[in-house]
Amino acid sequence: MLARINMYKDITCIICPISCRIKVSFTDDTLSNIEGYQCKKGKTYAMNEATCPRRIFTTTIRANDGELSRVPVRSTKPIKRENLFKAMKIAKNVKLHAPVGFGQIIIKDFTEKGIDLISTWEVK
Ligand code: SF4
Repeated sequence: MLARINMYKDITCIICPISCRIKVSFTDDTLSNIEGYQCKKGKTYAMNEATCPRRIFTTTIRANDGELSRVPVRSTKPIKRENLFKAMKIAKNVKLHAPVGFGQIIIKDFTEKGIDLISTWEVK
């Protein structure tokens, strides 16, 4: 029988200012225990952060022929943290031409299906 491998992740909840320190335990690579949270939102946050952390991706993209030279953009939903570098490489190679509308889809299904890259500013 293989030995059980235990691992712990200490996570600080950022949902509210209380900033609970939450301990997430894994046994044989399976989440086995969560302690230290004070509410359901914090528990869900810690579970996601420990198993599949995600972040909203933001950057700027070059825009030609407009009043601004770059357009700020963001992902419509948080993307996997492991995909942030890939996302930056994709965004770096995009060149836009004005006009660019507020909320315009720049790249559909950006890094995952259902998550688009959209502009967060208007460039005329
Ligand atoms: S676990 Fe709940 S109470 Fe604690 S920091 Fe997170 S949201 Fe706030």
